[in-house]
Amino acid sequence: MLPLDEFVHIPRIAYFSMEMALESAIPTYAGGLGVLAGDTLRTAADLELPMVGVTLVSRRGNFRQEIDGAGQQQEFPDPWEPERHGRRLGSKVSVELEQRTVWVVGWLYLVRSHIGGLCPVILLDTDLDENQAEDRQLTSDLYGDGEIYRLKQEALLGIGGVRLLQALGFEIFRYHMNEGHSALLSLELLRRYAYQSGDLRAGESPYNLPRVRGLCCFTTHTPVEAGHDRFSYGLVRRVLGHYIDLPTLQHLAGQEELNMTRLALNLSDYVNGVANRHAEVSAAMFPGYRVHAVTNGVHPYTWTSPAFRTLYDRYLPGWCHEPELLARADCCIPDAAVETAHDRSKQVLIERVRAQTGVALHPRSLILGFARRMTAYKRPELLFSDIERLKAIAAERSFQVVLAGKAHPKDRGGKELIRSLYEYTRALEGSLPVVFLPGYDMEMAATMVAGVDVWLNTPLPPLEASGTSGMKAAFNGVPSLSVLDGWWAEGCIEGVTGWAVGADGAQDGHDQDAEHLYTKLEQIVLPLYYGYAEQTGGWVRVMKQAISKNAAYFNSQRMMRRYATEAYLD
Ligand SMILES: *Cc1c(COP(=O)(O)O)cnc(C)c1O
Repeated sequence: MLPLDEFVHIPRIAYFSMEMALESAIPTYAGGLGVLAGDTLRTAADLELPMVGVTLVSRRGNFRQEIDGAGQQQEFPDPWEPERHGRRLGSKVSVELEQRTVWVVGWLYLVRSHIGGLCPVILLDTDLDENQAEDRQLTSDLYGDGEIYRLKQEALLGIGGVRLLQALGFEIFRYHMNEGHSALLSLELLRRYAYQSGDLRAGESPYNLPRVRGLCCFTTHTPVEAGHDRFSYGLVRRVLGHYIDLPTLQHLAGQEELNMTRLALNLSDYVNGVANRHAEVSAAMFPGYRVHAVTNGVHPYTWTSPAFRTLYDRYLPGWCHEPELLARADCCIPDAAVETAHDRSKQVLIERVRAQTGVALHPRSLILGFARRMTAYKRPELLFSDIERLKAIAAERSFQVVLAGKAHPKDRGGKELIRSLYEYTRALEGSLPVVFLPGYDMEMAATMVAGVDVWLNTPLPPLEASGTSGMKAAFNGVPSLSVLDGWWAEGCIEGVTGWAVGADGAQDGHDQDAEHLYTKLEQIVLPLYYGYAEQTGGWVRVMKQAISKNAAYFNSQRMMRRYATEAYLD
């Protein structure tokens, strides 16, 4: 039997994403966008939704991170071998790039649900003898360097991906673009479904826009104008030649330059942002388009620690398929069982920190966790704005901090942030244990979100479109202390599921946010943790509400059921 026979017999939704976090050993992702794509496909497998994922094979992966003694990020290649994780498929298609024929093949990777289903993923690869040396590298580097390389990668993903799905025998009834990188797929569909010239009156466009719109939906992730992917028409002409005429392209993707977000908006009949606030910001940025809100969620099984999986299996069986059941956690799971599961998860993190850094964290002292892509808007330095203040807070009630995150190799500011975190770590030595774990990846994320006591997030509003790691923490009974941006504007019930830093909708600036963070930590979070608050059992109550209110809602099963009914089947 051909490896695809069991997948091509029913029409599917094709989910396109430049990055995809399939598993820790496959480094084809850089951050939250890829994790969302992976969680989407894992949920499709759980729910047995007919979907197929499409991404680039990114043979050289993202990069492996080490930090030297001076706090400088060192980057090393992180190659992986697709033949060890998937099967090479027989079909081959080509895309013309810079007047050369570039051949593309696919690897089949299977996402396996531990409750039954399978979801196929096609990883596109140009590393073939028949391609020129330069073109063989086009699917090597995730978000490779230089705009020509980027445009070629996006052409391979969008155009090559659509062609390969067809060559493999897939029948696709919906194309979902996860961010604008894959938007060229809509042009490929315009060409595929164009009217024959004999059927047209003079001057009439051959393109059937309504038909293509009826096939496409688009999820945008970028809350700022400058963040959208764009290319000059000179470059587009150089790379794609006369693939599609310029007036049509300008009409669909912008007069001045090809804006991938605009292209996707114009050729999709369903568009959404990834949290309520982000959808509002996106609608204001692109007036005239209807932008729905489907708040992100995380995959229940993947982001729940072994100790909590066992707990939920016992008290709320079926929670993986239907995480709504977790709403009952507050009443149906004994406090002591939640505390024990958390202690286990915390011990796993403490062991990992000891193994990686030699630092012995104290199991009875609160651990604050912060990990994400290291880039300016995430403001990892906010916690360290006033070192003396931090020392004073820690002198009164002890706590510890675990940090992790990679900076994009070209993001000098991000690397500088990592260096400054190292300096703060030194400055606080003896007063407050702060450790930075190099090599942030899915596996480390899972250990951290479960093992810390409080998950910290301090982005600069409105730049956090959604954020997902606080949702992962909720699955492990870990409350968030976070700026009210992205998902937390919906997830925060003050003092119940966690705590807000700053006022809702406020852009108070760095100093005021830092002041607010210190006050919350000193006067509310630490006293409650150490039981000085009047109500006994106050902390475990917050842990259980993080599960009942937030894990029960901010999960990818709910997210996918919404995509299925509103974006795919509507
Ligand atoms: C979840 C995750 C992210 C995204 O975290 P945010 O909170 O959305 O910034 C990034 N990297 C890894 C490895 C993750 O697991």
